Amino acid sequence: MTEEAKKPSMYDNVLQQFNKTADRMNLNPNIRRILAITNNELIVHFPVKMDNGEVEIFTGYRVQHNNALGPYKGGLRYHPTVDVEDAKALAIWMTWKTSLAGLPYGGAKGGIQIDPRNYSLAELERITRRFTYALGDNIGPELDIPAPDVNTNAQTMAWIADTYMSTKAPGERSQNQHVVTGKPVGTGGLEGRDRATGFGVYLNIRLLHESRGETLEGKKFIVQGFGNVGYWASKFLTRDGAIMLSVQDAHATLYKEDGISVDDLYEHSKPRKGSIQGFDGAPEIDPADFWGIECDILIPAALGNQITASNADQIKARIVAEGANGPTDNAGEKILLDKGITIIPDILCNSGGVIGSYFEWLQNRNGELWQLDEVMAKIEKKITEVFHKVENKVSEEQVDWRTAAYMLAIGRIETAYIQRGIFP
Ligand code: GLU
Repeated sequence: MTEEAKKPSMYDNVLQQFNKTADRMNLNPNIRRILAITNNELIVHFPVKMDNGEVEIFTGYRVQHNNALGPYKGGLRYHPTVDVEDAKALAIWMTWKTSLAGLPYGGAKGGIQIDPRNYSLAELERITRRFTYALGDNIGPELDIPAPDVNTNAQTMAWIADTYMSTKAPGERSQNQHVVTGKPVGTGGLEGRDRATGFGVYLNIRLLHESRGETLEGKKFIVQGFGNVGYWASKFLTRDGAIMLSVQDAHATLYKEDGISVDDLYEHSKPRKGSIQGFDGAPEIDPADFWGIECDILIPAALGNQITASNADQIKARIVAEGANGPTDNAGEKILLDKGITIIPDILCNSGGVIGSYFEWLQNRNGELWQLDEVMAKIEKKITEVFHKVENKVSEEQVDWRTAAYMLAIGRIETAYIQRGIFP
């Protein structure tokens, strides 16, 4: 999982995927020019007082790719790898994701280049609030709506919402609550938003099995990343009888032939800032052996560019379900496809999160509060509908799942531009 030194660029990857699809669908050349660029790239530097009284300067990013279909939407991540290039790639993926899901949103992404484990909770609160203040009116409930992503959570969103609302006149504060989604349930958050991404990953896997006349009972899966996405996807999969053989995070790789308990591992990792290291319910193995494990399903649910030409050959799974954004680079993808492996692409596989965000945004906008079962039913309906659209496109066009999903996503934006024209 060391991604630093020779990391291939996610931005190159997303552009290659885009160009391949644009050629395949004969995309209008003017629209191709528009979609190949990111509209706005914001870099902010801001000072924060640390617990020891010293001031540290931080760098934050927000890239807004396209808003043809509605306000920019996408997460904020706190990670040492966050930079403009990665934020651009991730923002573009958000545009495709929201378009594919039929949501009235565009795409954005951003974050702060930090390792949050190096800061106290009080410092993280001040960093987040000062970042929000630096972003100012470049975000907003009808302009650009951030959400959780790698190493950010409901607490982070609560601080952003509170800070943003505090900068508004008293009479306008509450109508700005939907400036972010993924908030805690007590402060405008949506019941079920916490599990929405992992549930979507599970549901896509289940739907693919159903299409093949199979169930999840006894299916073996391995998962990279045991954060919000990896945990919830694993929890739902094992509920249907699937077996979690192996889990890998930045600190350890665990393997147990008769299955690892998802709940026990979660209880172990919670007080350890999410780390799975030191779990006594499964032995550790060499991280390099993770990819070659005999299994049915592989779920990359950590960072981008994890499946590349250097390890794709080893993969034995028949299905790769992309819980992370951009976990497979183009060279890795080619190898997997040649081996007959089905890749459920990120923009479909992990779209449960942003679909949940949309419901939270609607709920706030309309002053409503929805129940968990209603929310889960709505997410399931939406994902099932999108899954079958992509599945049909795969057979109509005889293409892989990513290309089919891209064709649908980009086609919807193309239609919007053709209908409304370009200002002035
Ligand atoms: N960060 C999540 C993603 O990559 C959720 C984005 C959102 O809800 O806006 O899809």
